[in-house]
Amino acid sequence: MNACHMLRATTISIMNSGVHPAILNTSTCLKIVNQLAYTRALYGCELWNNLTKSELLLLERAHRFVCKVIQGLPKRSRSDKCTSLLGWLCIECYIDKCKLLFFGRLCRLNSTHLPKQIMMARLLEFKYTCVDNQLGFIPDMYRLFIKYNLLQYVVNFIELGSFPSKIVWNNVVSQNIHKTEQLKWLERISNDSEFNFFKLIHPVIKLHKAWIIAKRYPDLRVASKYIIDLCAIVRIEAEQLLCEKCGKLFSNVLEHILCSCDFVLDYRNEMWRDIININPIQFSVYMDSLSSLEFTATLLSCDTIYELDDDESIVFSKLCVQHVYSTCKHFYR
Ligand SMILES: [Zn+2]
Repeated sequence: MNACHMLRATTISIMNSGVHPAILNTSTCLKIVNQLAYTRALYGCELWNNLTKSELLLLERAHRFVCKVIQGLPKRSRSDKCTSLLGWLCIECYIDKCKLLFFGRLCRLNSTHLPKQIMMARLLEFKYTCVDNQLGFIPDMYRLFIKYNLLQYVVNFIELGSFPSKIVWNNVVSQNIHKTEQLKWLERISNDSEFNFFKLIHPVIKLHKAWIIAKRYPDLRVASKYIIDLCAIVRIEAEQLLCEKCGKLFSNVLEHILCSCDFVLDYRNEMWRDIININPIQFSVYMDSLSSLEFTATLLSCDTIYELDDDESIVFSKLCVQHVYSTCKHFYR
């Protein structure tokens, strides 16, 4: 398909021109790729109402490819990890969102406009099943209303003539799509043992804190990227392994480095000193009460469920990026 080819080709040419995660911040790459590749490749996708499953799969593959390239992750890393670290949904969601927003624009048009009149005629034809096997835009939209739990808005529109404003409709569509996709994603990763540790680190589809830190503190770009790499590849080994540096056994190498390896004890003490400096003091008690696996997952997520104020939360995220990076670098030196 032309769109798949355009998505891959435009991204590769953008990367070759120097917009690359090794040189630029990921958020900048993301913006450029979004504006150049996605707007071109998905131009007019509001009317793609007869996409076959194989066409959608090809688009999805191109989308995952872009997601990995932007973050500089290996091609073979798991897509559900890579997309969720960037806070991305699948490409079908983006197409669905464009379609639903286009439907909203049609509904808000003045009734004297021809497109609105045609849409209303088709909508009523569909409602009263005037045509057998109706095809095209409206049946496709009906599928989306059911899928994202939006049918009530359309029923209100037909019966009462009321439709939400642009901002409200955009919010409702975005929230419902995110909710639906989040549930599907959780179901997929819950049934896969390779995600056992990952779902402790990153249980929600949202931009990983390390990328936020990279944007805010450009000098931590390399360290942030390192954390993302760790999140994408780390897993719990089935068998115990022996640490060459300290002679202890472990099943999760990061848990070992960040919680028990004697080789990096000084680095760990330094990290604890910084954790204790975070206000309130109860936070360090909370961190100490976590199991070693939870503690490792918290450090890798650069985020905590403990309610810190905004400034302290950023300090904690920054601390995680710096210390995990320096400790692991020292271990693997
Ligand atoms: Zn060790």
